[in-house]
Amino acid sequence: MKPPVISAFEPPRRILMGPGPSDVYPQVLSAQAKPTVGHLDPLFIGMMDELKQLLQYAFQTRNEMTLAVSAPGSAGMETCFVNLLQPGDTVVVCRNGVFGERMRQNVERCGGQAVLVDNAWGEPVDPQKVEETLKTNPQARFLAFVHAETSTGALSDAATLCALARKYGCLSIVDAVTSLGGVELKVDEWGIDAIYSGSQKCLSCVPGLSPVSFSPAAVERIKQRTRPVQSWFLDQSLVMAYWGGGAKRSYHHTAPVNALYALHESLRVLAQEGLEQSWQRHQEMHQLLKQGLQALGLQFVVAEPYRLPQLNSIYIPSGVDDATVRQQLLRQYNLEIGAGLGDLAGKAWRIGLMGYGARRENIALCIKALEEVLA
Ligand SMILES: *Cc1c(COP(=O)(O)O)cnc(C)c1O
Repeated sequence: MKPPVISAFEPPRRILMGPGPSDVYPQVLSAQAKPTVGHLDPLFIGMMDELKQLLQYAFQTRNEMTLAVSAPGSAGMETCFVNLLQPGDTVVVCRNGVFGERMRQNVERCGGQAVLVDNAWGEPVDPQKVEETLKTNPQARFLAFVHAETSTGALSDAATLCALARKYGCLSIVDAVTSLGGVELKVDEWGIDAIYSGSQKCLSCVPGLSPVSFSPAAVERIKQRTRPVQSWFLDQSLVMAYWGGGAKRSYHHTAPVNALYALHESLRVLAQEGLEQSWQRHQEMHQLLKQGLQALGLQFVVAEPYRLPQLNSIYIPSGVDDATVRQQLLRQYNLEIGAGLGDLAGKAWRIGLMGYGARRENIALCIKALEEVLA
């Protein structure tokens, strides 16, 4: 076979305003290009310890078991379910979009029983329905829900839902892939037991890492398992010998060294800005985008009180072709917005204002481009 002659891949500089990946901070891209060191190098281990501190800050937690899974958000989801569940466990799963449905699939693949609490797409999880379900299912051991449903743009009340889990003797499992860094999230104060996120949404890091954190009660539940976690790679008792081992760190898998430099840098940027300031900026930029979209006559899918600032779902005006508009935005303006997902496919667009993407220039471009393309 002759060697193929292929030129280096030169990606264009797009403006990413979809549901993720989001625009990556320039300093995060530079961090990733720094020299690779061994993943047991003492200096790298020092960086991992800082990374843990930064993650604890981002999650607002003192949980010891706080780390980044070496794979995207979906692997963080799987990490929570495979480590905590044993066959036969009942989990109350709240489903108001695509990602709640994926939680159900995870529960069933772990041999668990999912009891569903359904809410319409675009609505938040209804705590009253959750309480009724917890009351009538005293065997339930977990409550699982999505904090920020990226498929619709709806925010659920995580503090109230976690308080309900505790009241009914359940551990809470929370999807914070889109919420972390973009809206208020307080793991310890709200009593979240297991939480997972993603690097490529409001952290504006490169895709491929999933921050997770487990409360002492969740760690205890993992220790009490009577059978090993079916996934060797995601088994936290093995992974912690690497992440938590200090100077005695032992090999589990080769950490994605350069991607972890990138996460370290993106979390440093977040800490420098301040969490509250970041939440505030997402809210302010959302208000600005909202004014522009409303001036174009575009309607939001989600009612105002539950609307995510970082993910704006708007209905596609009648007579407008979904794919044509998105292609024009990409080709003529280098601008990516998201298509609708699931029930909203072909009916809505999803405009992300995540992390570095939540800034005035992006909003000005997006409104101008939509105005021209729709005209
Ligand atoms: C993006 C997303 C995921 C999955 O993350 P990946 O990095 O794509 O694997 C899970 N849950 C929610 C709410 C998301 O927005």
